[in-house]
Amino acid sequence: MKRRRRHGWLPVILNALGQPETSTAVGELVDAFELPPVEIWEKTAGAPVRQVRRLLFDSGGEIVLHNDAVAAVLLHLLPTGNATRGVHLAHWIAGSRNDASLDDLAKALRSPARTAPEAMPYFSVDGGYLQPTFKPGHPWRKKGGLLRVTITPTNPGRTALPKDDDCPTCRRLLVRNDDFRGGVDVDATIRELTSNQAVGLLTEDATRVRLADLRPLYDSGLMERVESQLTCKSCKRIICFTLARDSAPTFDYYTWSAAVMRPRDPIPPVEQWGDAARIVQAEDELHYVDHARSGWFLLSRRADLYLDARYSYSGIIDDSVLIRLDESECEAYRTGGRDYLSDLAMRMHNSSPFQEKSPYYARDLYRGPDGTRYRREVSAAVADHTWMAERRRNAADRQR
Ligand SMILES: [Zn+2]
Repeated sequence: MKRRRRHGWLPVILNALGQPETSTAVGELVDAFELPPVEIWEKTAGAPVRQVRRLLFDSGGEIVLHNDAVAAVLLHLLPTGNATRGVHLAHWIAGSRNDASLDDLAKALRSPARTAPEAMPYFSVDGGYLQPTFKPGHPWRKKGGLLRVTITPTNPGRTALPKDDDCPTCRRLLVRNDDFRGGVDVDATIRELTSNQAVGLLTEDATRVRLADLRPLYDSGLMERVESQLTCKSCKRIICFTLARDSAPTFDYYTWSAAVMRPRDPIPPVEQWGDAARIVQAEDELHYVDHARSGWFLLSRRADLYLDARYSYSGIIDDSVLIRLDESECEAYRTGGRDYLSDLAMRMHNSSPFQEKSPYYARDLYRGPDGTRYRREVSAAVADHTWMAERRRNAADRQR
């Protein structure tokens, strides 16, 4: 124990990760946090159901168990809940201080900070992961804003943090009812998700099945699995609600990196599953026509053609511009085909369409008042043809 003390007590935490509450390793950690806990709560999350148990200690330590295995240990630096104290970080991580910046932590842990898309930086140390949380808006490189350190057995870049099980915005969206398969009331859950989306607390991923289409697509029996993905405004986790033909519905929370790699089956033509109103609605949507890899997408809406052309500038700007083809461009496409579109896309790129002097600047629908809607519509229309779709298919092939 003396050796541990000299290097900090972090190994006591790392040993407890993944262990049941009755294990010696967790017993040792609980002793270090000083008994008894000042707050204990138990909840259920997701489907299939996960039992979440949290123990908060007066010392500022906290243990989160999922189905009786330690899923996270939190070191709160400031008093939280019923705890009257915060931890002394140097006690756990030798060489660190409570006002540590990200670089200070890297030095103390002798490990570089790693990053993942849409996730806070984290450290990988001896089989566990440490993720610092700073005050909102506090620069990580500056001292003084550290609030807590979360230690997990799973990579926080890929697995949503158990801490967020407590998110007030999204923790109660799943409607349980034992009368239904898997204990999930699908229609009530869809209603709950829809009303939260309507007030802006959740954002639907346009490249997945829309919430409004989830039930009709599932009922049609045309798809093995139908999944909607929604991002929580507060905790940024992504809820994946999945209805499968041969198994019970699932509902769980993911990081962006994990959600984006989940399988996405192509959606059959709306005429095969939508009602009359939905079919009419689809006529007004953008439809994929063709694309050139990392170059352009051609889309149509009724008689109109739209070109989404990618452009970049000095490695700083990498974006795309969307124009509706005018009459002469449509005519040139009819005679010149894909070659014409590649030429046009190249001209658009060379014109620096992010500058007003470009003739495409004023035509860029992404810059117009409906820009956000256009981006969402284009993403949805091209979802099966992007590099991400390709990556996902390759990953699925490798698993087969
Ligand atoms: Zn949330």
